[in-house]
This record gives sequence, structure tokens and C-alpha cells, in this order.
Amino acid sequence: MYSRKLTPACSIGIAYYPDDGEDLLALLKAGDTALYTAKENGKNQYAFYKAELTHKAEYRFHVEQNLRQAIEKQQLSLVYQPQVNINTGEIFGVEALARWLHPQLGEVSPNDFIATAERIGMIKPLTEWVLRTACGQLVVWKKAGFSTLRMAVNISPSLFLDKEFVLLIKRIIDETGIIPAELELEVTESIVQTDPRNLAIFQDLKDLGVFLSIDDFGTGYSSFASLKHLKADYLKIDKYFIDDMLVDNQALTLISSMIEMGHKLGYGIIAEGVEKSEQLDLLRSLGCEAIQGYLFSKPANADTISKLFVYPVSTNWTQ
Ligand code: C2E
Ligand code: CA
Ligand code: CA
Repeated sequence: MYSRKLTPACSIGIAYYPDDGEDLLALLKAGDTALYTAKENGKNQYAFYKAELTHKAEYRFHVEQNLRQAIEKQQLSLVYQPQVNINTGEIFGVEALARWLHPQLGEVSPNDFIATAERIGMIKPLTEWVLRTACGQLVVWKKAGFSTLRMAVNISPSLFLDKEFVLLIKRIIDETGIIPAELELEVTESIVQTDPRNLAIFQDLKDLGVFLSIDDFGTGYSSFASLKHLKADYLKIDKYFIDDMLVDNQALTLISSMIEMGHKLGYGIIAEGVEKSEQLDLLRSLGCEAIQGYLFSKPANADTISKLFVYPVSTNWTQ
């Protein structure tokens, strides 16, 4: 007989009468808000209600309420951040990053609305919109003569595991008429270790001909065993390491090891969040081949980015 051990986990939100609510409804609401904090803090723990949580909860509620209509009301847009060859200064690709400007809420951070979209089941239509818009923009750029670009799009882990995902990618490629190798999908490394079946999705996407990157590399729980089998093209070293590389020897050692290991396993390396020319020089000397970051360009709208294609930067960036 096959037996399975179940380990239930529990999160608790605690609210006090009468400080946190004077009637049942207010008290339940406060308890629920505190429960949310407990979950946000990593689950399997308790949290007490605090008044400032209400503002956070109300904001989250508004984000949730409005996000459903954001696409229809054309409040979403994309900005693009160049990915640059560290040796030649050539822009070989751009990463599409979603923006949401709401008339009352103002600019909502993608960290907030992407997490909300995942929670309320909106991530599929949202990503479909991002993919279609980004690939459409790539076609516009190609027609304007910028034909060597690749478009990188972020894919949430939950969508990546959707059984229809490969079909969705196929459909977008067909609809927009791009070449599969012009599309790059960025997924975080959490995807790598959850289930061996994920490796099959990587293979299916590779068979389709798209590029794949492991985003935020080094911050999650990389499974080295999975990395061995992965059919991905790039590791993107997270900004977290780049931020510290000039002041912290351990961060530098980790970056150097990631680059060496990545190369030996056959991955290209993109360093994210490069802001200083000293970081660039050091990364170049470590053999990193591509960078993304404010040093070169902040994410910006398509028109602004097009100008960078026309006037490429000097390859000797320290001068
Ligand atoms: P990410 O994929 O790691 O994107 C990189 C983030 O770092 C972007 O923030 C970018 O603006 C920022 N960044 C790039 N270079 C620098 C730098 O030199 N200095 C600093 N301080 N920051 C830099 P952003 O646009 O706020 O996006 C945050 C996250 O939201 C993204 O992190 C990504 O996980 C998510 N996201 C954005 N758009 C989408 C989307 O269309 N789909 C999905 N699933 N996630 C998205
Ligand atoms: Ca990314
Ligand atoms: Ca990243």
C-alpha cells in the first residue's frame, strides 16, 4: 500500500475587540487583513492586526477591482529596456515591462499588479496582451529596419505551467508573424525545481524555437540537478548581487562563480540592474557577455528606445 504523509500548515490573523473593530463585521475584516499579512510573511505563522494594514488592504482592494478593466480601458502600456552586448555596445534585445496608469490610483507598481493578476486569475489575459503588444512592436521595429532585435517577455510561473501555454505562444507567433527565435521568455528559477514535468515544457518551447531565460537567477532555490537538464539559453544574474559587487567580496565571488558555472553549462549570462561603469568593467573582465540596467537605459516607451537603436553608444563605456 502506498501511503502519503500530509503536513497541514496554518496561518492566523489576530484582531482584538474593541481596539481593532467594534462590531463583528469590522472585527472579521481586521482579522482577515492580519491573516493576509501572515500569509505575505511566508505563511504558517500568525500576525496581529495593525491600523496601517487597512490602508494597504484598501489599496489592494482597489487594485483588484480595477485591474479587471485595465486592459479594456487601455490603461496598460509597455516600456522596453535594452539588453546590450557588453563588448560591442550593440542592443541585441529589449525586455518588455508592463506599466499601469490608473486615473485615480496613479502609476501602480508591476510588482503589485502582477501579483494581484496571479491571485485573481487575470495573469493569462494580461500576459496575452503583453505578448501580443510586445511582438507587434517588434514587427514595427523590424519594418523600420531594426531587424536584429529579440523581444523578452516575463512569464509568471503559474502561467508557464498552464497546459495551454505552449499553444498560446504558438498562436501569438503565428498571429504577429514574428520568427520564434525573436521571442525570449523569462521565467524565475522557482519554476525549475517544482516539478520535473516543467522540464518538458522547456523542451516543447525550445522545439518551437523561442529563447528561454532564467530570471532573477541566484535569488530563489536553484536546483542544480534541474539546471543540468534545463533547455534554457540565458541566466539573468539578479540586481541583488550586482548592487553589492563593488563593496562586498562575497557578492563578487558569487557573481564570478555564477558566470563560470553558467558558461560551463552552456548558458549565456545577462547581468541585471547595472548602474555604474565600474560594475560594467568588472562584469566584462569576469566574462559576462550582456547587461541590462540604468547605466545604459531605464525602461522607456517604444519611441524613446527607437532613438537608441539609431544612435548606438560607444563601446568604451568608461570614457
Ligand atoms: P524583473 O523582470 O526582474 O525586471 C527588472 C526590474 O528591474 C524592472 O522593474 C526594471 O525597471 C528594474 N531595473 C532594471 N535596471 C535597473 C537598474 O539599473 N536599477 C534599478 N534600480 N532598477 C532596474 P519593474 O519594471 O518595476 O518590474 C518589476 C517586476 O515586475 C519585474 O521584475 C517582473 O518580475 C514584473 N513584471 C513586469 N512586467 C511584467 C509582465 O509583463 N509580466 C510578468 N509576469 N511580470 C512582469
Ligand atoms: Ca525579467
Ligand atoms: Ca529580473
